[in-house]
Amino acid sequence: MELNFDDKVVVITGAGRGIGRTIAERFAEFGAILILSDYNQESLTDVSSYFTEKQYSFKAIPCDVTNKDQVNQLLEQTIEYFGKIDVLINNAGITRDTLLIRMKDDQWDAVLNTNLKGVFLTTRAAAKHFMKQRFGKIINISSVVGITGNAGQVNYSASKAGVIGFSKSVAQELASRNVTVNVIAPGFIETEMTQVLSESVKENFINKIPLKRAGTPKDVANTAIFLASPLADYITGQVVKVDGGMVM
Ligand code: NDP
Repeated sequence: MELNFDDKVVVITGAGRGIGRTIAERFAEFGAILILSDYNQESLTDVSSYFTEKQYSFKAIPCDVTNKDQVNQLLEQTIEYFGKIDVLINNAGITRDTLLIRMKDDQWDAVLNTNLKGVFLTTRAAAKHFMKQRFGKIINISSVVGITGNAGQVNYSASKAGVIGFSKSVAQELASRNVTVNVIAPGFIETEMTQVLSESVKENFINKIPLKRAGTPKDVANTAIFLASPLADYITGQVVKVDGGMVM
């Protein structure tokens, strides 16, 4: 079976760089129409120039996932431009790492608002369209630390564990309307988010990975392609780890 996303409308948050951008590029390579969304105008302009150069079908819509009005507009504009939405990928995420006893309220709130409330806002706004269409694929990007926990990341791991519980609940609510909801839990992936880690921390991570390498954004993107494709029509409420075997 040839994978093909011709005429499929795919909305991706945090598409300006890193994993989100690579997911967007991969869907475009398979023929999808992309709604590229990010709150960083500079990276949105950058990814838009690349998509224009490649002659991919897309629309760039700035959106801060913590802002309810902007999120509602993102989905309304998607329907206005393309008449439907087939795939929603909740990818935007941030870290504000520190140990629990040093963590400030604003570090907790920023991470929970972006990583968990942001996923709630976009999913709620998309759900009514998906339900009406009786079709949809939602893919939420969590993290293996949402399963294992991680010292120094109490806010981040709580948010990512929340995404897993949220996704399983939405999967149950929307299944009768032929909407699937799945989670990708990446391990250690080379992006700007992980570039800030020291060499010794990176080495420590890689030593714990059976496949002995960091993951690439493309490893995550390929999983998103699978989950959004008809090959995964009978899969919902699942968490797929893309981590080189780090967590088994
Ligand atoms: P990056 O920081 O490289 O990219 C995240 C993108 O999201 C950036 O463009 C960022 O903008 C944008 N963004 C941040 N906050 C918001 C917001 N409120 N609204 C809209 N856009 C926003 O991260 P990665 O590509 O590494 O990570 C992508 C996802 O994968 C995240 O959810 C992350 O938690 C998850 N993940 C990553 C792992 C890794 O090893 N890299 C491992 C496990 C999970 P700006 O450039 O301004 O920051």
